[in-house]
Amino acid sequence: MSRSAHPAGPRHADVLPEGHYSAPPADLNALDPKVWAQTVTRDAQGVVTVGGIDVKTLAERFGTPAYFIDEADFRTRARAWRTAFGPDADVFYAGKAFLSRAVVRWLYEEGLNLDVCSGGELSTALAGGMPADRIAFHGNNKSVEEITKAVEAGVGRIVLDSFQEIVRVAHIASSMGKRQRVQIRVTVGVEAHTHEFIATAHEDQKFGIPLADGQAAEAVRRALQLDGLELIGIHSHIGSQIFDMSGFEVAAHRVVGLLRDIRDEHGVELPEIDLGGGLGIAYTSDDDPREPHEIAKALTEIVSRECEGARLRTPRISVEPGRAIVGPTAFTLYEVGTIKPLQGLRTYVSVDGGMSDNIRTALYDAEYSVCLASRTSDAEPMLVRIVGKHCESGDIVVRDAFLPADLAPGDLIAVPATGAYCRSMASNYNHALRPPVVAVSDSDARVIVRRETEDDLLRLDVG
Ligand SMILES: *Cc1c(COP(=O)(O)O)cnc(C)c1O
Repeated sequence: MSRSAHPAGPRHADVLPEGHYSAPPADLNALDPKVWAQTVTRDAQGVVTVGGIDVKTLAERFGTPAYFIDEADFRTRARAWRTAFGPDADVFYAGKAFLSRAVVRWLYEEGLNLDVCSGGELSTALAGGMPADRIAFHGNNKSVEEITKAVEAGVGRIVLDSFQEIVRVAHIASSMGKRQRVQIRVTVGVEAHTHEFIATAHEDQKFGIPLADGQAAEAVRRALQLDGLELIGIHSHIGSQIFDMSGFEVAAHRVVGLLRDIRDEHGVELPEIDLGGGLGIAYTSDDDPREPHEIAKALTEIVSRECEGARLRTPRISVEPGRAIVGPTAFTLYEVGTIKPLQGLRTYVSVDGGMSDNIRTALYDAEYSVCLASRTSDAEPMLVRIVGKHCESGDIVVRDAFLPADLAPGDLIAVPATGAYCRSMASNYNHALRPPVVAVSDSDARVIVRRETEDDLLRLDVG
């Protein structure tokens, strides 16, 4: 696709201001399958549809803003991860990306396991019918109540994150006459973000127990001594939105090194290794994520090779993709409210949501794309910034994008790849009502998380 082929420049700028964009796309009406959920397309009238239902109908039925999740796409992606890793590995979906009972059912049916990191996520997982032994419990400061609930429920593993927690979990399990399966989360000195990673000797962050200074080995020593714990493996999670597998390579090398040291010191070969999540997705057409089968092949090869070198039996591998499963499966639908052209700069397009339904742009400088969804247009492209309705100038949904210059209030626009970390990080800032999540498949749409109401807000306000 030649971007420079488009005859017209942006309407409101002779010279484009600085930004994250390249040239306008050749066809503003095109929907790049890289960033859109599997069943998204345009119907004969040019209206965007998902699961066979057009967005005008969806907006009428469910209002805007709203998240629409393509159930078929979710299941396909979950299954692809499951199949890619095969029966000798486990795929734990990271519930923090987006969790609801419907999603738990889909995961259960597709054969995945589930990561939770709070009592609330654990309750949702159990309420959705995920068997406790397929749940892993994470977090750097789990409360005594949360640990108790997890041990009582019989979760498959608790991932220990500190020396205090080793004792805490052991004590709680022992007092219930149980032996809790645990992994120890280590920091391997690898920090991976998008296309780059840095390998260092130490890691300056709150998660995990450092490998470099012998703390991880000491944690293993202590865990192996406690009756309440069954140490089954080592856990490492190196970052998020990662495209480059070399960070995992270094992480696996260092974790396997620890497994070897454990074998040499204690005579035990821990049976599991968890390499975490963090695999990237396409937010814009410029991103090129890897397919699950490529990732599975690469990770399995790395671990096998390292273990061969250390003369260890290859442990059972687990991974924890969140974003890579749910991220691409949903889009947010907004209605355009106001349009402000700023001469020589860009056009500000205000929508009926904003940082309360997508904080990632403000928080991480995340990039998104956007399209005019309720119709097609042959108008020339204009450079826009999609902003919300909140009382913050940083309330930006899409920093830089192109939309047709005839965009008008009342048009529906859609932002793809909002399945992960959008609804789950949504807030009530300005007493916004958090949008619903609607699952769409086979021409059927049903609410899986309903829209908040003002009554919901007032219910908490007991003064
Ligand atoms: C956040 C997180 C994940 C999931 O990360 P994604 O980028 O969504 O794949 C997996 N494991 C752990 C421990 C995490 O903290």
